[in-house]
Amino acid sequence: MEIRVELTKNPKAKPDPENLGFGNIFSDHMFIMDYTDGKGWHNPRIVPYGPIAYEPSIMVFHYGQSIFEGLKAYRISDEQVVLFRPDENMKRLNKSCDRMCIPRVDEEFAIEAMKKLISIDKDWVPNAPGTSLYIRPFIIATDPYLGVRPSNTYHFIIITGPVGAYYKEGLNPVKIYVESNYVRAVAGGLGEAKASANYAASLKAQEVAKKKGYTQVLWLDGIEKKYVEEVGTMNVFFVIGDEIVTPELNGSILPGITRKSCIELLKHWGLNVAERRLSIQEIYEAHDKGLLKEAFGTGTAAVISPIGELCWNDRKITLSNGHIGELSQKLYDELTGIQYCTKPDPFNWVTKV
Ligand SMILES: *Cc1c(COP(=O)(O)O)cnc(C)c1O
Repeated sequence: MEIRVELTKNPKAKPDPENLGFGNIFSDHMFIMDYTDGKGWHNPRIVPYGPIAYEPSIMVFHYGQSIFEGLKAYRISDEQVVLFRPDENMKRLNKSCDRMCIPRVDEEFAIEAMKKLISIDKDWVPNAPGTSLYIRPFIIATDPYLGVRPSNTYHFIIITGPVGAYYKEGLNPVKIYVESNYVRAVAGGLGEAKASANYAASLKAQEVAKKKGYTQVLWLDGIEKKYVEEVGTMNVFFVIGDEIVTPELNGSILPGITRKSCIELLKHWGLNVAERRLSIQEIYEAHDKGLLKEAFGTGTAAVISPIGELCWNDRKITLSNGHIGELSQKLYDELTGIQYCTKPDPFNWVTKV
């Protein structure tokens, strides 16, 4: 399929790369492609970023048939921009499609479209240390219809925008509230799909935790509320004795690409990493025995987010004396080193735009 390109006549001023936030500035162009039953995906185009007119009856507004992805483009020189494992994102997008009754996209074509969009908006990839261009592909149901069924038409859209360094003054440990009331997902639900609805489900607990002075919640399983699942919108790792544990993918956990990359790196380093069920009780017992060394979240936005404190049923524990754990720092340095091409890339994770 040929991607039609319509360039903007009103390019926007670029923001100061030293003062970027996250998710509030968008580049000049966006990619859109249509789906119609019987016709498949068609009419791929890159057009100026801007409002899209939809009827208020389109299905996504009412029944939430919507999925997304998130990845970043990194500037490694004046001329060169790279992506980190975009094939994994597109594979996951299609898995989310399957769960949400959304038609699959051609993964190679989607990557080509993404690269073309980034090439056109290359000047939007910021150059200050730690900054990047955030890429948000998403698919929404667009039938103007109020009956409940999968839509017959969709839009696949990619928008991008420059984002700042997540950590301006080094890796910052965060305070985490262990959530025993609300749940994010259950096996059989949408937890392992990157569905917008999972985020809607998570807002309340997040708001309550914020009011109590915590940055994020640690989600427990939705059935027994015993087993650790994720932290905020990140996967989670705990270092207990000489074992590095992350919850196994059980159907309610989102299979993070940062999670997968960390597991692969840890194995490559010859460390003892286990994907298994991990109860919050075990974590507290490990702490009491002096075995809990560190814990961290993993995700595209922050890469590694060290956990400094946990609070479960009013019992607070401090991890690594509230400092950054050794392994958190090492994984962060290695992953960002690979992403910005300042370190070797033995797994071929990085691809040129
Ligand atoms: C996107 C996401 C993650 C992290 O995935 P990455 O591919 O590492 O960015 C973890 N948990 C949830 C719920 C997510 O939506």
